[in-house]
Amino acid sequence: MTQHSTFEDALFRLKSLAELANLNHEVIEALLHPKQMMEVSLPLRMDDGSKKYYSAYRCRYNNYLGPTKGGVRFHPNVNEDEVKALALWMTIKCAVVGLPFGGAKGGITVNPKELSPMELERLSRAYMRGFADFIGPHLDIPAPDVYTNSRIMGWMMAEYESIHRTHAPDVITGKPIELGGSLGRDDATGRGAYLCTLELIKKMGWTLTDIKVAVQGFGNGGYHVARLLQQAGCKIVAVSDSQGAVYSESGFDIESLWQEKQQSKQIKGVYCDDSVCGIIEHSTITNEQLLALDVDILIPAALEGVITKHNAKDIKAKAIVEIANGPILFEADDIINTKGIKVIPDVLANAGGVTVSYFEWIQNRSGQSWSLEKVQSQLKEKMTSAFDTVWTLAENDGLTLREAAYVNALKKISRVIEAQGTRQYFVSR
Ligand code: GLU
Repeated sequence: MTQHSTFEDALFRLKSLAELANLNHEVIEALLHPKQMMEVSLPLRMDDGSKKYYSAYRCRYNNYLGPTKGGVRFHPNVNEDEVKALALWMTIKCAVVGLPFGGAKGGITVNPKELSPMELERLSRAYMRGFADFIGPHLDIPAPDVYTNSRIMGWMMAEYESIHRTHAPDVITGKPIELGGSLGRDDATGRGAYLCTLELIKKMGWTLTDIKVAVQGFGNGGYHVARLLQQAGCKIVAVSDSQGAVYSESGFDIESLWQEKQQSKQIKGVYCDDSVCGIIEHSTITNEQLLALDVDILIPAALEGVITKHNAKDIKAKAIVEIANGPILFEADDIINTKGIKVIPDVLANAGGVTVSYFEWIQNRSGQSWSLEKVQSQLKEKMTSAFDTVWTLAENDGLTLREAAYVNALKKISRVIEAQGTRQYFVSR
């Protein structure tokens, strides 16, 4: 059996869902072709005086709905194919929540944990130098993604400003507050997923305090959604990172687990018996076992492609909330759907991050600073209304939530493409 690449898998799903949306052939064709893909080799002077080269990418998938938007990922697995898939998902995501943005994504093939802080700063600035003509406040606006953070966004903004000799906080989002970042951006992805999960729980008629949750991946998104769900009364019975997973029938205190991870840099730190793990009975399991736990809600919050046609049959959760981008491969969709598992798809569940990025961009462009209350209430409005639209479409047309989200987004994008004229328009004149 041939193994499809991440981008191929994303295109198969797009084609099949575009047919469901009854899109014009020309519109489907337009969506299958990324607008621009750029690769740059970044030379980096290391602290020991040597020089290394890193491959860096930026894909502007399409700009039908506005300037392109999407994060920059620093990870050893970053490659052209992955960046294109992630840029395609950003395109759909921005349309699902109704943001005036097209989709983009970028990344560097690097393990940032192996760099010193000064090497990391030089590499971040080199990225912006490499793509300085490709990126811009009206063109393409980066943001944080896997293993990048607000400090890195601040360095990239400073580099862009020095190249263009201008003040341009609106060139990048997810910056430190002091440099024009928005309040509420740090937990926005987790909060958006939390808001969607609450809506799902309401629709399903479940009781918050009965819900058991497993979170695969304990980065920014995984931590915040787990923290908020725990505060709301759910039990977070399992959490993992790339090193392994911990399980506790009685549930973890997420804040202590997070503090522990910050100190030891891995959840493994809690395996010891003199810290937080000492006060709570727990066992260690693998990431694979975590995915197959008998919980109510499974939250994949790490990387793409963790649920495949091989392990989908083992999933026992009643619902999956995709905080990671692309955690379920298209090839596994049918198995998951046949099992009756409700999936809040990535293009909706993790859209809180880019939504608050949009708020940050508005603030930067208009010289405003919104209060945390304003950011959170606007985020709530956007997320719950997007969830409601998707849910209603799914109910009315007998679709899954993923199908409904794509149909809704693709129709919005297709209206723009059609307004520019398709074959039917030109040949009938
Ligand atoms: N990297 C995030 C995502 O995948 C945020 C993108 C943004 O804020 O532009 O949605």
